[in-house]
Amino acid sequence: MTAFPRAALALAAAVWLTAGATPILGRESPPAERGERLEIEVRRGDTLGSLLGRAGLDATAAHEVVRAIRPWLRPTQLRPGQRLSIQWSPEGPPRLARLAVLTGFGHHLEVSADGNGSLAGRRVEHPVRIETRWAAGLIGPSLYASARSAGVPPRILSRMIRALSFDVDFQREIRRGDRFVVLWEEITDLATEQRRPGALLEAGLTLSGREHRLYRFSDEQNDRDEFFDAEGRSARRTLMRTPIDGARLSSTFGRRRHPVLGYSRMHRGLDFAAPPGTPVYAAGDGSVVRAGWNGSYGRYVRLRHNSVYETAYAHLRAIARSVRPGARVRQGQVIGYVGATGRVTGPHLHYEVLVDRRQVHPLRVDLPAGRNLSGAELESFQRHVRRIETLRAAAAHSPGCRLR
Ligand SMILES: [Zn+2]
Repeated sequence: MTAFPRAALALAAAVWLTAGATPILGRESPPAERGERLEIEVRRGDTLGSLLGRAGLDATAAHEVVRAIRPWLRPTQLRPGQRLSIQWSPEGPPRLARLAVLTGFGHHLEVSADGNGSLAGRRVEHPVRIETRWAAGLIGPSLYASARSAGVPPRILSRMIRALSFDVDFQREIRRGDRFVVLWEEITDLATEQRRPGALLEAGLTLSGREHRLYRFSDEQNDRDEFFDAEGRSARRTLMRTPIDGARLSSTFGRRRHPVLGYSRMHRGLDFAAPPGTPVYAAGDGSVVRAGWNGSYGRYVRLRHNSVYETAYAHLRAIARSVRPGARVRQGQVIGYVGATGRVTGPHLHYEVLVDRRQVHPLRVDLPAGRNLSGAELESFQRHVRRIETLRAAAAHSPGCRLR
């Protein structure tokens, strides 16, 4: 880790140094003479105060510096191996003239004294270079292992999985021999030469011959990235919050007195009162996990929409014939009919939304809302897709990319 802050501090030093002194980098220098600049490395257990003491500052002066720095540097941002670059005032009693510390990717903190000797800090942004990287290949035992060995950074891989998770069930649909393609930005901090993945530009999977390909397109109104397929359809599929027509919400999510058992307990779903036989819809595309009798739930259907979201439907009078474990369902498809099976006081649908197998409040869960592009926005998106494809074609011939 010692190599990483050096260049930033060298850059900071380049800003400070007036007389062409050689920066003392790479080794810790002894307490400085006035006017000199020194490097101090953070050791385990160091505080800013102890570091400044080692740099030769007395307790009062160190306290002043700590106070000046506090708004910009949290104590947790100091890590062993990190380097502080310190310069003393050239004249008068020993005082801090400047201090620089790398505080994160692409920026450092600089504290300097004004003419009166009072200290102020500022964040200094480094220039960066953005390049396009891509990887593609066959999936072996796992997408994760294959993409990692093709050079896809973990952060990009997790964004890819998130973007595709409404189209693809990552735990079930990926097979050996399927293919992936990923295009992303790599950002280089030109002061430190440190690299970091930037935006995911394109994510593609070809699963059992079926292609899923998404492109990032930034939404200028909401200032956030969204992913769309080549036709401009949003990658995000929302779940229906009310998977039944014309029903009255008769009991909401939360602690309540149980109508049958009499005592207070947590109600982990929504109840919709409706006449027996009212159709119940699949809240989203997915596959059937369970369909049949389930104790106090009565006749019960559980759907899996992706690796995160599931929905469950209870007390059904009947389950639709095609709804069997493993079957695919489409959003809005009738999966069963309202009934009063299991532990109930009357006919109603008990509806649950599960995130990572835990019931959440269906009306409060942040269900991603998809939207489709049209008109001028769609045209702009299609130009963007062509540009991305061109970038990928160019990246395929550039050195440094790894592909199989
Ligand atoms: Zn209920």
